Amino acid sequence: MRTEKSRITVLLVLFTVLAGFIGGYLIASMIVAHPSTITIVKTVAETPKDHYWNATKNLLDHVIKWVEKDRGLRFDQNVKLVVLTKEWVIKHWGLGYLNLTEVELEEELYKALFMVPESYNLTKIKLGQSGCTVAASADNTIYVVKEYFDPSKRLQAGRVLAHELTHILQGVYFKIPEGRFHDEKQAIRAVIEGDADLVALDYLLEHGGKAESQGHEEDFNPVTSIWLFPYLYGREFIQYLRELGGWKKVNEVYLRMPKSTAEILHPEKYVEGWEPRKVEFMTKVEKDWRILLRDRLGEFFIRQMLRAHLPMEVAVKAAEGWSGDLIEYYEKGEERLLRWKIAWENREELEEFLTAFIQLLKEINAEKVSENKWVWDDRIINLRVEDLSITLTENFRIKH
Ligand SMILES: [Zn+2]
Repeated sequence: MRTEKSRITVLLVLFTVLAGFIGGYLIASMIVAHPSTITIVKTVAETPKDHYWNATKNLLDHVIKWVEKDRGLRFDQNVKLVVLTKEWVIKHWGLGYLNLTEVELEEELYKALFMVPESYNLTKIKLGQSGCTVAASADNTIYVVKEYFDPSKRLQAGRVLAHELTHILQGVYFKIPEGRFHDEKQAIRAVIEGDADLVALDYLLEHGGKAESQGHEEDFNPVTSIWLFPYLYGREFIQYLRELGGWKKVNEVYLRMPKSTAEILHPEKYVEGWEPRKVEFMTKVEKDWRILLRDRLGEFFIRQMLRAHLPMEVAVKAAEGWSGDLIEYYEKGEERLLRWKIAWENREELEEFLTAFIQLLKEINAEKVSENKWVWDDRIINLRVEDLSITLTENFRIKH
């Protein structure tokens, strides 16, 4: 077997099954943080053209023609098919994507925002997820994983291919922006996955399948929901646009991408041209603090933070009316400083969030020590209200 080794820059989007999370369901999911161009070392053994390959190729040829007709876009070159094994995927694609420093920082942030317990290990969870790839696409190639992808189950297999083929079309016809903030990246991913999911749903319905309900946010813990956001809400967003003006309207979204999860959750905001407000801090922190992160987390993230301790309806309502935010996270040795300024559309929306957040502090048994100050697990938490924004400040030492 010949092995071809090359370093390439590709648009790689993975389709995974998260059986462990949802017991039996198949759900599309993406491991890479953002399907932008990333450099990977592609080491793909040449696929033998056996019965499995032929059956998959046969189905693929059918789905290609179907997707072209449904989506109204044509492939500009032949689509290649590569068959992989689960073992190969874990070895070559599993660890490669994880930026461990970034994952550790993400974990610190979830802990600082009361979303996971101190013992939580995000790296371990992310590594587990990487072994669940069903299929992937990069450039003009479709990768399928033998253990998970069964071409004889034509309906489900065809749907997976329709999803992946849409990603190939996106790479051919649209320029996908990077996004500067977590919030914006999530919105862009929701467009990409929502488009692919809608084509996949069309395929399913037209081939006699029944539309099963999509995964629900309530079924997942807050951290998993953040990860799955593009699959939970992308399709509804794209569907909203398609109902307004067909695929033409959907194609236009790539020229003006939504900037926030708020626009994905409330598509009418996107359509009317609403944009998040720019939020800034009025003061600088002392010079000896080293910045680890500056980001905008957005409405959906806030909702998950609240949902970790409050009922779903409360979290949803309290996070609505978000108009912008900015979070900064600093280190000085073992010390950490977090400040997060969240802006609201009006006073009522601000009050609603404030009430919910104070309720959250009560739920975790934070001790109120003065008017705007709480102490929880050696952390000092401050809340300050200014005009239409709330600033949360936290000081603590990191635990190892
Ligand atoms: Zn996808």
